[in-house]
Amino acid sequence: MLYGYGGHILRIDLSAESIVKEPTDPKIAEQFLGGRGFGIYYLFSELPNGANPLGPENMLLISPGPLSGTLVPGAGKLDITCKSPLTGGYASSSVGGILTAEIKYAGYDSIILTGKASKPVYIFVDDDKVEIRDASDLWGLGSLTVEEILKKRLGEEFQIATIGQGGENGVKYACITTDYGRQAGRGGVGAVMGSKNVKAIAVRGTKGIPIADVKAFRKAARTLYRECKKSEGLEVWQKYGTAGVVTWANEIGAFPTRNFSSGMLDGYESLGGELMREKIVVTDKGCFGCPSPCGKWSHSKKYDIRLEGPEYETSAMVGGDCAITDIEDVAYANYVADELGIDTISAGNAIAFAMECYERGIITDKDTDGVQLTFGNAEAVFTMLHKIAHREGIGDILAEGVKHASQVFGKGSEAFAIQAKGMEFSGYDCHAAPSMLLSYMTCDVGAHHNRSWSITYDLQVGREKITPDKAAKVIELQHTRPLFDALGACRLQWVELGLDLNLYPPALAAITGIERSWEDLLKVSERIWNLTRLFWFREVPDFGRAWDMPPARFYEEPAVSGPTKGSLVARQDAEKLLDMYYEQRGWDAQGRPLPDKLEELGLVEFAEKV
Ligand code: SF4
Repeated sequence: MLYGYGGHILRIDLSAESIVKEPTDPKIAEQFLGGRGFGIYYLFSELPNGANPLGPENMLLISPGPLSGTLVPGAGKLDITCKSPLTGGYASSSVGGILTAEIKYAGYDSIILTGKASKPVYIFVDDDKVEIRDASDLWGLGSLTVEEILKKRLGEEFQIATIGQGGENGVKYACITTDYGRQAGRGGVGAVMGSKNVKAIAVRGTKGIPIADVKAFRKAARTLYRECKKSEGLEVWQKYGTAGVVTWANEIGAFPTRNFSSGMLDGYESLGGELMREKIVVTDKGCFGCPSPCGKWSHSKKYDIRLEGPEYETSAMVGGDCAITDIEDVAYANYVADELGIDTISAGNAIAFAMECYERGIITDKDTDGVQLTFGNAEAVFTMLHKIAHREGIGDILAEGVKHASQVFGKGSEAFAIQAKGMEFSGYDCHAAPSMLLSYMTCDVGAHHNRSWSITYDLQVGREKITPDKAAKVIELQHTRPLFDALGACRLQWVELGLDLNLYPPALAAITGIERSWEDLLKVSERIWNLTRLFWFREVPDFGRAWDMPPARFYEEPAVSGPTKGSLVARQDAEKLLDMYYEQRGWDAQGRPLPDKLEELGLVEFAEKV
């Protein structure tokens, strides 16, 4: 008996129309835990080298973890892994909601999609009954609309993942949506699902999860919940959710504004948690088993739309970065992007980049089909979202991401295409935050904040410092935060409520029957991190140090306004931090794991395939 797991891997080959269930391998569970650990293990082991990310050979792995669907607080996280069409390297996107619990209750630890269906389909999973069903009538519809249709058709208890027109049209940052607004947003996982002609996945599970020691687990889970409920941070976190970060980010000069040219938006107050709650929030919304529901269900009277959000990242990228200051405009853009199934982070970044190009005269009305693409023009943002999702005109270029767009537009625009490894930066300006910049540079999916949110460390030890402890902090966070994505639980009870990390191992031990310390688990996380790095070297022929460097904006152009006005991170300092980081990781000067590190982590046989 494999305690704590669904017990099976569900493989669906869409080309062959074959459905195979195989027992979950306890050895792989021990070495890689689940979630993103399973994702990279199977992707690395089975993806043909050099596979086209949008070809039938790419794999889409949808994986809960051993904590998913249990009574551990926030056990509602699901990992979606594939080869990224945006970066050409590793993609893993975490999404909350309830779907992960249903997948576990149906008895699966990963659903692996390969091949390509000959016509639009959706995947139907009802415990052991698995079918590939016709979805011709759903193709062309939006993500939220399709979820509503399938819930009516199949029953409310089915949890649904969908793609919108962005995923159908291969937008390189198309997302997969679940629970009416929770997004697996980054890296183009929705484009990969669309390339397989899969419009949706609907899952219902009724089997429960085998627990090794029920009594001990009840005790551990109760302790975790009690600690959450005792937390001083709970009230504010639940009241404002991630939108509460808007005010703080502006006050410290980290709110991306006008394509990351500064860290403070004039008029940011209307996007902050307090005014958002007053103006549009209807109620709180949480993922499965969450004691601190940070999601906000909102209603914009101006546009008469209902949506989940906006989250901080959307307000940062569609709001600040495009200089939009009305929360209802941001909410509408959020709604449009969710329905079209495109990532608000990458889309906001791409539109802000195009706005700067337009204002500098690098592109003109001729390129934009007459759209006045100026900062602050909300109507232009809405139009661009549609153009991107349908790949119309300039939208076809922006749908490829800012790295590609800057190569097309040229004229020095590469310097302010805000990306690393081909992925658009998310919502933190780094002109005065060297360790946060390093976090973006070295993130294993491209420039994303969720692996290492080290900006508070910059504030704590001194923003200007370029010291080895900053590299060490980034590494520590890169092992701690993504560990939650392997376990299948939310990290925010730790980050926002201050939950003691040492409370998790007893719960995991009671669930799985295997005793492990938090340090043991961090070692697994380090193994996963290094395997993702090997994947990059295997899949991207010229991969190395240059791929970890940020755009010149951060080291050549000081922030133009706000509290950090005049700040930048000098190029030699960015290089120095990277050197420290590589050395502390046990990697060479190109960022390749060295033999000793591979040996220590049990990755030698994987490295031989690179
Ligand atoms: Fe979901 Fe927020 Fe709760 Fe985390 S804290 S489980 S993201 S609702």
